[in-house]
Amino acid sequence: MEDIVEEPARKIPVAARVDILVLGGGPAGFAAAVCAARMGARTLLVEQTGALGGMATTGLMSHWTGSTRGGIYEEILDRSRDPGGERQTINPERLKTILLDMLLESGSALHLHTLACEPVMGAGKTGDGDHIRGVITESKSGREALLARVVIDATGDGDIAAKAGVPYRKGRETDGKMQPMTLMFKVGGVDTAKAVFPGGFEDDYEVPKGSLQQLGRKHLPPPAGHVLLYRSSLPGVVTCNMTNSIAVDGTNAVDLTKAEIECRKQLGPIVAFLREYTPGFENCHLLESADYVGVRETRHFEGEYTLTEKDILEARVFDDWAVTKAHFNFDIHNLAGSGLDPTGVQKHFPQQNGYTIPYRCFVPMKVENLLLAGRNISGTHAAHSNYRVMPICANMGQAVGCAAALCVQKGITPRKLDVAELQEVLRRGGVMP
Ligand SMILES: Cc1cc2nc3c(=O)[nH]c(=O)nc-3n(C[C@H](O)[C@H](O)[C@H](O)COP(=O)(O)OP(=O)(O)OC[C@H]3O[C@@H](n4cnc5c(N)ncnc54)[C@H](O)[C@@H]3O)c2cc1C
Repeated sequence: MEDIVEEPARKIPVAARVDILVLGGGPAGFAAAVCAARMGARTLLVEQTGALGGMATTGLMSHWTGSTRGGIYEEILDRSRDPGGERQTINPERLKTILLDMLLESGSALHLHTLACEPVMGAGKTGDGDHIRGVITESKSGREALLARVVIDATGDGDIAAKAGVPYRKGRETDGKMQPMTLMFKVGGVDTAKAVFPGGFEDDYEVPKGSLQQLGRKHLPPPAGHVLLYRSSLPGVVTCNMTNSIAVDGTNAVDLTKAEIECRKQLGPIVAFLREYTPGFENCHLLESADYVGVRETRHFEGEYTLTEKDILEARVFDDWAVTKAHFNFDIHNLAGSGLDPTGVQKHFPQQNGYTIPYRCFVPMKVENLLLAGRNISGTHAAHSNYRVMPICANMGQAVGCAAALCVQKGITPRKLDVAELQEVLRRGGVMP
């Protein structure tokens, strides 16, 4: 029995030639494509699922957490807010349509149901071979090549940046372990006037049978064990962030399958727990689960600068800022079980001011014509636990989309961009320190 089969070399048709190719339609990739197209660049967004929004929509997210001010994030909120909810509450179905409207209005092209699977590399002006020219995709149409002047990897895991040869490490610096995965789900039939909504690991409620978080640790199937519940904009519907799968790698299909099975098996016991112990949830029922298990953390790429937890704690304002007024805490879920990791800091996060992210975090080492946006940018494990939230990822997409469009206008690579010119464009778009 052979261990390896050989795939014959083949010629792949070029299905499109554009200025800017954006991979992944989550908050970061969506924003990058819209902003690049608005600046007149011929832009194409490639997304493996059938909808835009990534974790915000197909991941069934409850709300935009943390904050940035100005820019495309606030534009998304203004357009997508559901009348029944708070400004940051997400109605995933509504958001899917609004994001699609915004993308089509921007003039960007879109390939849904298309997986970016290999980079197309070539010699650039320096002849060093480390220039990305586009990607090969796999879809119902077969294998196709998409060529571009600048490629933006916003796949969350950096699938193409990794294969193009950008150096990276996974997870935390000490042992490579990554944050747990969660299959988000919603329950219906909740009496929301009576219900309690613990929104963080340190939020607890005394319920008739005791402390709700302690009851969770005692009765939920490990590694589930915490109770995180969020109001939605729909009557009687609550979003639950309570399934949990640890020691799994989101860049490995075997592990993803394991996490899907583990989380799905927890759904029944969690709903039974809510009915038994949680006020207002006595008659709740499972309404829907996300299209796929949510992956918090995988690859951290090496960029020209690596954002650290110290930068965030000092609310540092970099000269080459590209994202501004970013604020959240160190949301590190327990890597070995339920609840918050000992290194996580939620309620008692000491810094109230926002930080900036320098443009250099989006410019990867070793590969030209490539930019990173979203949770896969260059940062430490702890810094990532903060900037991974969707408002910050959306404004990263804005910065990177505008940067890519400027590079195309000027005929330069992203590494050569004068950041002052990018900052002028961003200021006009409402982003400033
Ligand atoms: C369970 C969970 C709960 C969270 N809770 C919150 C919260 O309450 N609030 C908050 O603000 N943030 C939350 N986050 C964090 C946040 O959702 C993510 O960090 C954020 O969505 C990252 O944005 P992104 O655009 O980088 O990636 P994603 O949102 O993951 O989007 C990546 C997109 O790329 C597509 N893609 C991936 N690979 C390929 C490929 N090879 N080819 C084509 N397409 C591809 C995916 O289908 C997806 O649409 C949560 C995350 C998880 C996992």
